[in-house]
Amino acid sequence: MSSSIWQFSKRAAALQSSAIREILKITELPHVISFAGGLPSPNTFPVEKIKQAVDTIMDSDEAFSALQYGPTEGYKPLREWVINLINQREKTKLTVDNVLIVTGSQQALDLIGKALIDEGTKILVETPTYLGGLQTFTQYEPEYVSIASDDQGLNPDLLSDEDAKSANFLYTIPNFQNPTGRRLSAERRKKLADKAIANNLLMIEDDPYGELDYQGHRLPSLISYAPTNTVYLGSFSKILAPGMRLGYVVGPADFIRKLVQLKQAADLHTPSYTQHIAYQVVKDGYLGDHIPKIRELYKKRCEFMLEQLAKYMPNTVRWTKPEGGMFIWVELPEHIDSTALLAIAVQNNVAFVPGETFFATNPRKNCLRLAFVTVPEDRIEQGIKTLAQLIK
Ligand code: PMP
Repeated sequence: MSSSIWQFSKRAAALQSSAIREILKITELPHVISFAGGLPSPNTFPVEKIKQAVDTIMDSDEAFSALQYGPTEGYKPLREWVINLINQREKTKLTVDNVLIVTGSQQALDLIGKALIDEGTKILVETPTYLGGLQTFTQYEPEYVSIASDDQGLNPDLLSDEDAKSANFLYTIPNFQNPTGRRLSAERRKKLADKAIANNLLMIEDDPYGELDYQGHRLPSLISYAPTNTVYLGSFSKILAPGMRLGYVVGPADFIRKLVQLKQAADLHTPSYTQHIAYQVVKDGYLGDHIPKIRELYKKRCEFMLEQLAKYMPNTVRWTKPEGGMFIWVELPEHIDSTALLAIAVQNNVAFVPGETFFATNPRKNCLRLAFVTVPEDRIEQGIKTLAQLIK
């Protein structure tokens, strides 16, 4: 019997620690070759540049505003920087009233869940999709409808007008998706945006990986096709450092105002300190030099892992061939359960994330996600070789 002197809310009580998470704890041990974590490579963190930015701020009067409470909407120069970036890149005509700075895009997902989901609210998700998005939305008890994807990303032909009309929003990750690494094709972007406009459907476009396009050929975002139907989420986690916990939401001004109210209740505002630092780092175009270096490193690691998969995996195994981002999605023969495989793999010092956790409905058991950016090449080869032997 529980001896707690408290009673958890229904929402908190419904949260369960997952069996997979327990197994994955072991993967933090140094001898385990882990393709599980979705972490950016620390080799890409601009430590010196951030140090200089901190010194510049702390040696001037800006120190006082960087250490003070600030507006919930965020530090104005950073919001202006964000909106200039989006307007230039996506040919939109948005203003600073269309931007909210958040504590990582994960917070944006939570605020959006709070803003838009009541018990039983229908929401559309591409499948598979980001586990952290599902975890957040599930707290607010939506009814999920999954839209299948293939090598070109979410398939808009499989989104019925009826679902598009009755759902409160669609959640999608068009660029180098987590977990599949796939990118939504240009043709499908246009088709999806047209469908959203025709059916008054709101799209939540989550884009933490868009800049990690190995060739540097960005496709227009959904917000560029349908600015009044799109709420766009950006993040500094994969282009600066995730420990700064900085992201942004761009959307219709009245939607942003509602998120501001919700954010005020949650944490008053994103830390002034990290916002000032990030602005100091990016304001003079630093990312133009920095991002290509990240792309180069990730492209190399991705190509190397793809080579090892081709070299070692049996021909019954298929995988995606990403053109950007941090993940490869592997499909095993139908009879292999990747969660059971993980338990054995961990005993052999290799880890990955089983695919079933990325499905809102009808989980597929025979898939898994591999993250390649934090693992050195010799360990990638060893890890893939071991996995292939276990699968065989
Ligand atoms: N969305 C997706 C698709 C992600 O993969 C992640 C992080 N792995 C996030 C959102 C959260 O990112 P942030 O660090 O900006 O909170």
